[in-house]
Amino acid sequence: MLLSKSLQAATAAALLFAAPVLAQQPDLSDQTIDTAKMLRDAGLKDDTAYNLLESLTTEIGPRLAGSPKEQEAIDWAIAKFKKLGFDKVYTEPVMVPYWERLSEHAEVLAPFTQPLHITALGKSVGTPEGGVTAEIAHFKTFEDLQKADASDVKGKIVFISNRMERHIDGAGYGPAVRARGAGAVEASKKGALAIVIRSIGTDSHRLPHTGGVNYVEGVKPIAAAALSNPDADLMERILTRGKPITLKLDIQVKHHGDVEMANVIGEITGREQPEDIVLIGGHLDSWDLGTGAVDDGAGVAITMATADLIKRLAPQRPRKTIRVVLFAAEEIGLVGARQYAKVHGDDAGKHHQIGAESDFGAGPIWALASNVNRDSAFVVDKMAQLMRPLGVLRHERKSSGGPDVGQMGRAGMPTLDLMQDGTDYFDLHHTADDTLDKVKPENMRKNVAAWAVFTYIAAEWPGEFK
Ligand SMILES: [Zn+2]
Repeated sequence: MLLSKSLQAATAAALLFAAPVLAQQPDLSDQTIDTAKMLRDAGLKDDTAYNLLESLTTEIGPRLAGSPKEQEAIDWAIAKFKKLGFDKVYTEPVMVPYWERLSEHAEVLAPFTQPLHITALGKSVGTPEGGVTAEIAHFKTFEDLQKADASDVKGKIVFISNRMERHIDGAGYGPAVRARGAGAVEASKKGALAIVIRSIGTDSHRLPHTGGVNYVEGVKPIAAAALSNPDADLMERILTRGKPITLKLDIQVKHHGDVEMANVIGEITGREQPEDIVLIGGHLDSWDLGTGAVDDGAGVAITMATADLIKRLAPQRPRKTIRVVLFAAEEIGLVGARQYAKVHGDDAGKHHQIGAESDFGAGPIWALASNVNRDSAFVVDKMAQLMRPLGVLRHERKSSGGPDVGQMGRAGMPTLDLMQDGTDYFDLHHTADDTLDKVKPENMRKNVAAWAVFTYIAAEWPGEFK
């Protein structure tokens, strides 16, 4: 259709002005806003989240996907949901591959001898019994490895030394983590025997960061490990001597095959539209090295405590159902979340009206992002305004919904991101240092206060976000 320039402009202007008038979205009532404020203020005085986290990290600890410890965590979550008095508590089965580390050892044999602190990457295959000993092929980045000639890699152990940058929103993770996820396949394609990477982390402690490695069909899987940051520095300094490094790497693991685990679900049933769902949660599994306090015990505890707070203190059940999902086996490939989206994906953006995830540690929330429709953006703006005393800003970024809830986001469910300050998160992430002492109780309270504002309003407001 052809329109004159001025007519086009007039039409655009009319649309722009018409939009708010055409919107059929209901207002936010004063009562809803007052209750949200009350819940926010009560959240700032409530230690339920911290106490849940203390319980999970003390009574269960590490919860490696597929392991008996993940099953213990599932039993723990069911018992806690019931004790807190959620209206419905149930599980949905998830088949989870169970990978276990048995031992890991690395040392430099030449030109100097130095023991190294390493950890096997999750799902890594082992080295042959007795380990591999070979010269290293050093690359500063994953991209450098991609460009390398196979003749420089064949028969060697690849070492990628890229360092992750520190950012409040974890922006350094994506570019750095390719070395961990895809490095082994790329190295193997060129004939490498194994791969070691600098830990994907921002600390300078001698604690390596684990995390999943990916293999693909048709490319021989090779052993993959991460060096602590100081050990990666050491390797780089040795390389400045201009002599090749001979490395010995010995990793022993066990692949147990698939075992049945579960997503654990607790609900506060909606009083008027119980079939409509506000989806919140985190992942219940953790890596095996720490006790999974910040990843993701904190998110589990924050979202459980948020629903509990609303159940206890709101004058009545919110209009719509609050569903807390504690996802299984996130760390080894979003296994629980993918299963959830397989079962419920058709409902994304229908009864699953909006969702958000807490999976970025235990720092305070500093920004709120969303991808709701234009006609409901005023509701999110109001949430942000109510969170302003907590230090939360409205962020223009489009939300993703987090790793697990984001699977439903991709299927069409609107999402919110309650963005946590992750400046220090990657000092701890996937290390033995991910323990409860790093979590400040007041930050847990502040998180719950912000989550209560979002969750309550989303469940009480009668409009739709899609
Ligand atoms: Zn996580």
